[in-house]
Amino acid sequence: MADIIQLLPDHVANQIAAGEVVQRPSSVVKELLENAIDAGASNIQLLIKEAGKTLIQVSDDGNGMSETDARLCFERHATSKIKLAEDLFQLKTKGFRGEALASIAAIAHVDLKTKLAGEEVGTEIKINGTRVESQEPCVTPKGTVVSVKNLFFNIPARRNFLKSNAVETRHVIDEFQRVALSHPQIAFSLYHNGNEMFQLPISNHRQRIVNVFGAKTNEKLVPVEETTEILKVEGFVGKPEFAKRSKGEQFFFVNDRFIKSPYLNHAVTAAFDGLLKEKAYPSYFLYLSIDPQRIDINIHPTKTEIKFDDEHALYAILRSAIKHSLGQFNVAPILDFERNSDLDTPYSYKERQVKSPVIEVDQNFNPFESEKKFASKYSGNLSLNKSNHKPAYTSKKNVGSWESLYTELGSSKNEANFSNVEFESEEVTGNLFEDEKITTSGNTFQLQKKYIVSSLKTGLLVIDQHRAHTRILYEDLLKSITVTAAISQQLLFPLILQFSKQETAMLIELKEALEQTGFVFARIESHEVEIKGIPNLISESEVSIMLDQLLSDFENEIPESGFKQTDLLAKSLAKSMAIKTGSVLDTVEQIAIVNGLFACKEPNVTPLNRKVFVTLSANELEKKFM
Ligand code: ADP
Ligand code: MG
Repeated sequence: MADIIQLLPDHVANQIAAGEVVQRPSSVVKELLENAIDAGASNIQLLIKEAGKTLIQVSDDGNGMSETDARLCFERHATSKIKLAEDLFQLKTKGFRGEALASIAAIAHVDLKTKLAGEEVGTEIKINGTRVESQEPCVTPKGTVVSVKNLFFNIPARRNFLKSNAVETRHVIDEFQRVALSHPQIAFSLYHNGNEMFQLPISNHRQRIVNVFGAKTNEKLVPVEETTEILKVEGFVGKPEFAKRSKGEQFFFVNDRFIKSPYLNHAVTAAFDGLLKEKAYPSYFLYLSIDPQRIDINIHPTKTEIKFDDEHALYAILRSAIKHSLGQFNVAPILDFERNSDLDTPYSYKERQVKSPVIEVDQNFNPFESEKKFASKYSGNLSLNKSNHKPAYTSKKNVGSWESLYTELGSSKNEANFSNVEFESEEVTGNLFEDEKITTSGNTFQLQKKYIVSSLKTGLLVIDQHRAHTRILYEDLLKSITVTAAISQQLLFPLILQFSKQETAMLIELKEALEQTGFVFARIESHEVEIKGIPNLISESEVSIMLDQLLSDFENEIPESGFKQTDLLAKSLAKSMAIKTGSVLDTVEQIAIVNGLFACKEPNVTPLNRKVFVTLSANELEKKFM
């Protein structure tokens, strides 16, 4: 039989290798940023177009490459970073495998411009799927610019496998943040489709975190510092009260490399023991320095896991360091029952004169308006106004006159609204539940501040108040986002909230939909948002929590389509705005919820598919007495 084994041609081998190194645009971003750091750059700019699918460009002011190196760097196993296998145990660089550029060049159009310091001219080299198209002298500043265009142009299956631009951009931003957070001594910037997303000057760790996540982050950080023989820990943990409902801001860096470690994450969570609410995740930015000999560095280029030789010791050190910091900064509550709490009163407070309470006049109050507002609060009806206008908002000169505070465009007649409050159960619920023979009697009471109980002709109805209200608001919000805008409540003083650049970018994307629900934005700038009007159903103090929740929901679940975005927005707002378990409701409120619920299209389940009410038939009851 003839010989059948042959060596794969280079371009095929490179394409296969590329499959491991480059999964998506963010993998290219990671490799290029790391190369720039290894080249000693102090200023790195990342530019992407269409989430990196059409262009990823990294410019640095690092060492640059000679003419020969510029050609060689695209060969497989071409690296300047290690010479011997032993060097692996002394690694101070990010790269060492010499695979990244070869892999990237195999699956994209690459253009590299580079110049060494002190040279007159640089080199420009163009590569098209491993084939060198040209290499010429060029004029370029000291350093390197790598442009990667049309990723996966020659592997359509991989290209089709990429997610929506929103999802891929999110991955790029994640990668960018990880690199930027671990190198505050380098200035970074990120532009997407020509828009500046991050501009991070040279700074220290704390400032870098604040520049990435927004000014409001600063007050949330508690420093952590501990040095032992095997490990040095520096960095910050977020105060427990700011713990998020998503895991977004949790970062471990080992020797300036971002890593994931469920085990060390557990150590951090353990340090927060008893300080966090259920399902809350603390933020942390922890920089660990460990002797490279003690970690298994021969990790896969794209993997972020790392092996330590003494994990248990790391766990214990980390946990106690964080516990100590939380305690020292008085974050952990001190429970000492022996102590006389009188002694805790600060002197200044003791000597303070007694102040008579000040009566605050609710400028928004209008006796004729209250019923209307109430009805809308519980039975939904964000969309009282029948016109298709944007949420109502009137100019400043009207401030102070109550009419302007609850303006509605178009007709201000609310018959539809009032009919919801009146308890017309026969008419409303009777029809809806014909098949199930459910008709409420009109008598309701509240159980455990959680359920609304009503008797049916045929038994008993138990409604979860929070879930029911979520359903009502969800359907109403969907309607106001897609059909008729909701009423807006004008604020006497505009509300100014701080956000990170990324968050404001997300708010800009959601602005139109949010305005339909009643928000009025005076301006949305890079780190600050000014709000002039809010939905009628919420109070000013809830706005910040609500928007934070909304942003974290969007961070966790990036919607792929416009419809999913609207849906997620409505779900998130409904959840935040709905009355909570534990709220006492009077009879009118209870009835409004019952009516509102059964006027819904899908009263049985919440937007997240959880049961809203249960019924108990007289038959079932009877059986229980047998
Ligand atoms: P590795 O980083 O593992 O060495 P790469 O394929 O990423 O492998 O890069 C190959 C080589 O090209 C590097 O070792 C380095 O010498 C050179 N190189 C890559 N990017 C740059 C850059 N931005 N500036 C200077 N040299 C670079
Ligand atoms: Mg590299």
